[in-house]
Formats: sequence, C-alpha cells, structure tokens
Amino acid sequence: MTTHRKALFVLLTAFAGSALAHSGAKHKHQHNHDAHVHGVAQLDVLGQGNRVSVSLESPLFNLLGFERTPKTQAEKLLAKRAVSNLRSDNNVQFNPQAGCKMVDAVLNSAELNPSQGDEPSDDGHAEFWMRWEFECDNPKALEALEVKLFKQFPRFTELRAQLVLDGRQAGARLTPSNPIFKLR
Ligand SMILES: [Zn+2]
Repeated sequence: MTTHRKALFVLLTAFAGSALAHSGAKHKHQHNHDAHVHGVAQLDVLGQGNRVSVSLESPLFNLLGFERTPKTQAEKLLAKRAVSNLRSDNNVQFNPQAGCKMVDAVLNSAELNPSQGDEPSDDGHAEFWMRWEFECDNPKALEALEVKLFKQFPRFTELRAQLVLDGRQAGARLTPSNPIFKLR
C-alpha cells in the first residue's frame, strides 16, 4: 500500500460519513510507482450504515493494455467501451440478500477523462481510480462481494482488497480463481 493510499484509507475510515457524502469530490494525489505492478490493483470496500463504497486504484494497463491517452480510432473506441463497461454495475456485485444497488460511479483518469483526472504522468506509466457507490436495503445481510472485474478485464490478475465495514477491518488477496471477498 502506498503512503498516500494509507492516508486516504485512514481518512475514509475516520470520516466515512462525510467522505461518502462528498462522493463527487476530486481525487488529487501523488502516485507512488514503486507499487505500480501491471495486473495488480487495490480494492477498498468501505461500508457504514446503508452506504457502501468500493474504490479501485489500478494501473491503466489493466484496463486498456497501454498507459497513455488513446490516439488511434481503434484505441479511442476501445477506451470508450472500457469506460462504459467500468461505469456499469456488473463489475462488483454484493450478495443479493443485502439488496444493494449502485447509485454512483466516478472515474478519475487523466488519460480517459482529462477534465477530471490528475496531471498525466511523464514516466511512461499511468493509473486510474474508480469508485462505485452503493445503497443497500439490508446492510446487515452483507456477506460477500463478487469481483466480476476479472471477467470484464482479463488483464487484472490480482486485487489487494481491504474492507472497513461498520468500523471492522479485514483484508484479502483476490484472483480470477478466487474472486469473492468475504465481508463477514
Ligand atoms: Zn505501468
């Protein structure tokens, strides 16, 4: 975990309510490319009350296979489809008993969404940050999060997952053959 991410996670943990309330806030930070490994990404699940936020911080490679602004028509089409897919609600799914539905999806990427993203990096690497927000009718029934991202985007090989649910913390390493994050 990068220093920035630790700080963010602590912040989210401490101020979960206000962080969720400010879901549209811009995400500005310094990347630490020591932790940037193609195929690997970080997944944070933060739940409080009936709101659950799932954040993904990943090398852009995992989404597109390259790490720069799309140039050719084919690359632009690929990126457009990837973004549309990423914003949909079929990448992370909670067990149905919890009755969760996606209420917001925020993508932060200088390469894919220049008006919102950080400054493009000049070291040949790029990352993106994605957050899905859910409202759950029955949060007490939250038991598992299935990560379908692996199927949508096969370049993801490992997710380092962290959970803070009603103040309780847990972690797991998720892979295409082990895509279910147990929340209890
Ligand atoms: Zn890279």
